[in-house]
Amino acid sequence: MRVAIIGAGVLGVSTAFHLAKAGIEVVVADQAHAGRATAAGADIVSPWSSGRVDPGWRRIADAGARYYPILIQHLAEAGETETGYRRVGALSVAADAAELDGIEQAVRARVAMAPEGGAVMRLSPAEACALFPPLHPELGAVHVSGAARVDGRLLAAALWRAAEGCGVRFHVGKAEVLVHDGRVSGIRLESEIIEADCVVVTAGAWAPEVLTPLGIPLAVAPQRGQITHLHLEGVETGAWPVVLPRDSHYLLAFGGSRVVVGATRETGSGFDHRVTAAGQAEVLNQALAVAPGLGSATLVETRIGFRPVGPDLRPMLGRIATLQGLVIGNGLGPSGLTIGPYAGRLLAQVVLSEAPELDLAAYDPLRLTAGAERAAGARADAIR
Ligand SMILES: Cc1cc2nc3c(=O)[nH]c(=O)nc-3n(C[C@H](O)[C@H](O)[C@H](O)COP(=O)(O)OP(=O)(O)OC[C@H]3O[C@@H](n4cnc5c(N)ncnc54)[C@H](O)[C@@H]3O)c2cc1C
Repeated sequence: MRVAIIGAGVLGVSTAFHLAKAGIEVVVADQAHAGRATAAGADIVSPWSSGRVDPGWRRIADAGARYYPILIQHLAEAGETETGYRRVGALSVAADAAELDGIEQAVRARVAMAPEGGAVMRLSPAEACALFPPLHPELGAVHVSGAARVDGRLLAAALWRAAEGCGVRFHVGKAEVLVHDGRVSGIRLESEIIEADCVVVTAGAWAPEVLTPLGIPLAVAPQRGQITHLHLEGVETGAWPVVLPRDSHYLLAFGGSRVVVGATRETGSGFDHRVTAAGQAEVLNQALAVAPGLGSATLVETRIGFRPVGPDLRPMLGRIATLQGLVIGNGLGPSGLTIGPYAGRLLAQVVLSEAPELDLAAYDPLRLTAGAERAAGARADAIR
């Protein structure tokens, strides 16, 4: 069996990696769009800190976080250790004690259902500052020890190389799906035709361009995120925890004195690949309100990414009943680095006609088609 995959963001490369490990011949085409979400994400893996209540989202996000150490181990066995993944813990911060009580209660309840969240601890402002020194001195915190951060760009590159090592062929260019006799027959990549028994479309926010010619209305739209990288000269930041204020913004750190702050959630942005004055101001104002100690940092760059966002925040994963051989993976929205590696494993199981280890009924790609354009992204600004 030969499988063609369109799109090599985190979801496409993870699907390719898992298929290749199962001995399947895989070809991947990627257009390397400016603004692909995976390359902008410097990401947090901490579903237990999220206030989202949708059980469908929670099930797959918890499973995604649980799967990370296993994936990191698989990558290490393939010689890939540069992913930026590290369990640094997360601080949910607030100034008000009653608010922190509510956060603590909610986080403890979630971690009780998902023990990989680790230990939950209440920290005084001084204790929180000791872990993340630029933090505002009046902010207390709830600390979750199992939370991790990962660098989307590094992770995707590691998966790409590991997949190549298992025989996956990557092509750079725009691909379209070919159909013959009512089923997919492969992809066209520029002038080349690559035959395949199954085509997996993991084209992120650009997927409607690929699927509309096939008459498949996928309810996904781009949501721009602007995220800023800062440099704190001479400060070792590699072990700092993730910081989560009460809105959708966050701060996280990597080695090499790098602190990342963001991000905007601009529903209705289209594919407008610019750093805007308002976006930059929002990101910096929010970050400095929470961590005034970052005021002297050097602003290194602001990255732009287009999150693939559907009407709800649940992923879209599975086969399309009306077109044999077509599989879709999309809708990862603001949680794609948490969910994507695991969702790639699930998509590989779908392609192999194995029973996926998570029931995918709740993630039918076309469940939201009616009224999709109107609703796309509308709920994406909900609490993290
Ligand atoms: C600023 C920002 C911060 C984020 N923070 C977090 C976080 O803290 N935690 C978290 O879990 N997630 C986070 N995310 C979300 C996460 O990054 C995305 O959900 C995830 O990367 C989406 O992956 P994807 O593979 O579906 O899409 P993408 O990464 O967008 O990949 C799609 C790929 O398909 C290719 N493509 C499209 N059309 C074609 C075609 N016709 N032919 C060939 N190739 C094609 C594109 O070029 C692209 O490379 C963040 C995202 C952004 C933008």
